[in-house]
Amino acid sequence: MDPLGQRGEWANWAGDQRCRPARVLAPRSRAELAEQVAAAAAAGERLSVTGSGHSFTEAAMTDATMLRLDALRGVLDADRESGLVRVGAGTVLAALNQELEGLGLALENLGDIDAQTVAGAISTGTHGTGARFGNISARVEGVEMVLADGSVRDLSAADDPDLLRAARIGIGALGAISAVTLRCLPAFTLRRVDSAHKLADVLDRFGELAAANDHFELFTFPYSDRALVLERNRTEEPPRPKGRAVAFLNDVVLENWALEALAAAGKAMPRAIPALARFAGLVATGGRNQDASHRIFVNRRDVRFTEMEYAVPRADGPTAVRRVIEWVRSNRYPVFFPIEVRVAAGDDADLSAAHERDTTYIAVHQYRRMKWRPYFEAVESIMNDYDGRPHWGKRHFQTAATLAPRYPRWDAFQRARDELDPSRAFTNEYAECVLGR
Ligand SMILES: Cc1cc2nc3c(=O)[nH]c(=O)nc-3n(C[C@H](O)[C@H](O)[C@H](O)COP(=O)(O)OP(=O)(O)OC[C@H]3O[C@@H](n4cnc5c(N)ncnc54)[C@H](O)[C@@H]3O)c2cc1C
Repeated sequence: MDPLGQRGEWANWAGDQRCRPARVLAPRSRAELAEQVAAAAAAGERLSVTGSGHSFTEAAMTDATMLRLDALRGVLDADRESGLVRVGAGTVLAALNQELEGLGLALENLGDIDAQTVAGAISTGTHGTGARFGNISARVEGVEMVLADGSVRDLSAADDPDLLRAARIGIGALGAISAVTLRCLPAFTLRRVDSAHKLADVLDRFGELAAANDHFELFTFPYSDRALVLERNRTEEPPRPKGRAVAFLNDVVLENWALEALAAAGKAMPRAIPALARFAGLVATGGRNQDASHRIFVNRRDVRFTEMEYAVPRADGPTAVRRVIEWVRSNRYPVFFPIEVRVAAGDDADLSAAHERDTTYIAVHQYRRMKWRPYFEAVESIMNDYDGRPHWGKRHFQTAATLAPRYPRWDAFQRARDELDPSRAFTNEYAECVLGR
């Protein structure tokens, strides 16, 4: 398949970030990857590895040489005893989940979707929710990386703890990851209960609710006083998936089609947005389900939107959310999409948004054909007050200068970068902006 389409153009999932790579390389094996990288870098080409293109930022974009590692996929090695699973970097999470299920294993936590590649997901710090659980990259025990000179480095926690802390979330700027070793868990069942509540009550009890559930999450619409609360907890009971019709109604019609219809209406009639959003807040009233963990974590997202997400210290989450809502309402800003609030445990990756602090993630979305910049700028300035760290794959306006003071191990990451990619062959425009030269 031609990844660039007929006009030689690459587009991200949202369709609002586009680039024209000078050429695309799609090696069929690790050896071919090493050969192609070495030749391109020796010719002075800049390289950018692309996963599934699900970032909202320019993280994977390039006008130079684009690398696609779709062929490096599948489980390469699995030890059921320890849960350690080595997997090709280009494996899509959905396929990995299926393979793991066959092995009686599962990923500890997942985000909202499973369309990302393993390397793409970890490289931007992709996360799910759960006060006691870290980002996906927190479960990475090893990274195999092809460097610009074509050499292959096998970074492990035992032998290269510092380099691994950098490589677990490297924003594509260290080398081409060819394989990842993940620590998985025995397969488990989750029970999901969705319920609607008064937003003020949920925010007042935020810390308590986050602590009481394995995986706690809330959605609210900026003009609604209601919150949809998702509580997912492990259970020893067997999976009891909903009938297909019910799942279709909730997941596809309610979560996606209704959103599309309302978002489109909101675009045509910006003045109706507050009323539409109140309506959507009432519609999202919930349900329950019990199934294999990966089927409970993941939802379909059919409506295209753009997104910003910030990580703030856990305790600051509710106040920051209140301030975002206050800004939208006082400016009567036309936004129909929900605010999503999740939590994660701190971890030790150098560039993790949850680095060494228990975190609240606050995500704001905008329908892709509507104006997002003033809203996102206002949200960012609120998040700056809480030492907020942006998701590397979601829109923000920060630069290396504003980001460096927010990451205690910034210099350690730069030392790893100097060691792994001294010529900056893997530094695309985005990496240059957020990491510097
Ligand atoms: C609908 C939707 C839902 C989402 N839900 C969530 C969510 O719940 N939680 C969350 O945290 N994020 C979420 N995201 C963001 C998404 O998880 C990240 O942007 C993720 O990085 C995308 O993975 P990808 O495979 O598409 O990688 P890309 O976007 O293609 O690339 C991301 C980065 O990874 C690098 N990269 C990719 N492959 C390699 C490799 N082999 N070696 C080195 N570097 C590499 C790229 O250079 C780039 O810097 C969502 C995005 C969308 C569109």
